[in-house]
Amino acid sequence: MNKSSILTYFYILLIFIGTAKVYFTQTADTAAMSVQKKHIVIDAGHGGFDPGKADDDGTEEKKVNLEIAKLLQGYLEQSGADVGMTRIEDEALAHTKNGDMKERVKLGGKCDVFVSIHQNSYPSPNVHGAQVFYYKESEEGKKLAELVQKRIKEYADADNAREAKPNSSYYILKKTGTPSIIVECGFLSNPEENKKLNDPDYQKRIARAVYMGIVDYFNEPEA
Ligand SMILES: [Zn+2]
Repeated sequence: MNKSSILTYFYILLIFIGTAKVYFTQTADTAAMSVQKKHIVIDAGHGGFDPGKADDDGTEEKKVNLEIAKLLQGYLEQSGADVGMTRIEDEALAHTKNGDMKERVKLGGKCDVFVSIHQNSYPSPNVHGAQVFYYKESEEGKKLAELVQKRIKEYADADNAREAKPNSSYYILKKTGTPSIIVECGFLSNPEENKKLNDPDYQKRIARAVYMGIVDYFNEPEA
């Protein structure tokens, strides 16, 4: 092979790589466009006087919730979504638990989807794994929950055997009236998962997974 044909091959290769790169970036971008201008409310569970679940070494659920909620906000805003946050600081929305829940529901009722971020806890330390809940009467909530659960397995929690679960009593799911989910990102009562949930890298992976599930949801035809 002479020098000029080597060069030709080299240029062809360069063009091929360039095209492939543009193609794959565009595919990812096009998918993510589904959330553009969508009004999404992210609810970092608990806050202020209400720490949520707490463990012996001082991890408070409300802090982990807020970290993950903010990361999710970042991903969604980068894709052009119109994001509302129920809180951006360590504060409750009212002076009582009841009042606080009512405020969250109010905010959740005026959007395209409502995503509430929580951490779980259980008396037995062996129990672990993220799980997404939806209101059992909501087809759209179910669809969103299943897509987010799938992405969590893919991006963050590979041996998670849980499935999105219907619920009929969680106040926030029942009352918002919008497609709503509660993402229980994991169990603070499981030592290994506790460590992961406090790790910024893992928090990013969970947030990214929830983000991708929401992107998938808006890419699906309506139920
Ligand atoms: Zn909680």
